[in-house]
Amino acid sequence: MIKNLATYLKDQPIVVTTNLGPPKVALAVGAHPDDIEFGCGGTLAKWASAGTKVFHLILTDGSKGSWEGSTSRSDLIALREREALHAAKHISSSPTVTFLRYVDGELPHNLVVASQIANYIRMVRADVVLGHDPWKMYRLHPDHRSAGFNLTDAVVIARDPLFLKDSGHTHFRPNHLLLWEAQEEDHAEEISDSLDKKISSLLEHRSQLNTSMGVDSPDNADQVDVFRSLIVESASTTGESFGLKHAEAFKRISDL
Ligand SMILES: [Zn+2]
Repeated sequence: MIKNLATYLKDQPIVVTTNLGPPKVALAVGAHPDDIEFGCGGTLAKWASAGTKVFHLILTDGSKGSWEGSTSRSDLIALREREALHAAKHISSSPTVTFLRYVDGELPHNLVVASQIANYIRMVRADVVLGHDPWKMYRLHPDHRSAGFNLTDAVVIARDPLFLKDSGHTHFRPNHLLLWEAQEEDHAEEISDSLDKKISSLLEHRSQLNTSMGVDSPDNADQVDVFRSLIVESASTTGESFGLKHAEAFKRISDL
């Protein structure tokens, strides 16, 4: 009998893997319009260059993504959707971007949201699904937690035939679930050749330059260079621990 489960789990060896190989279809599920580019933009861009069909599913409307209290909510929503569409085009030449438009900061974790994601997984038949790790400790943003739990629930709903029997989509089991910003990273993708695309896609989120990227304006070349260096440095540090040059790291769950 295991007396202390936490100690037992901590002592288990972590099997580290790298570079899955491009899937036929990849679906990334983000809480906010810029989360996908931060979490897996380099990986998606790399796979898209190799022929992967890339889908972006954005759960909230991004309507709290501003430090300007006077910003019109509807204007901000429209702006952030336009930015997400522009950003996705740096990742792949013909991306599909879908917005579920839950209110930013109020994304519920429930069967309705999970079923919407599950139907999407079934519809596009996503071989690899990527999203937030809901088990990341001390995560403050409720939408990231909620997005992660909805996604992990959705994988179960998508794969099991007795869920959503009347949805019109056949059940589907993805091969891999990759969770970014993970509590326990055990998989990495080399992104040296797609790092520029990740950075250019992030810079399309102009409304977030100040709040998320420390850049006052896209015209401030010095600040843009600092941001670029931070992303390169982060990818390099991540890569080092996996024996790669530049990488994005994930928790990989393949026993779906
Ligand atoms: Zn976010």
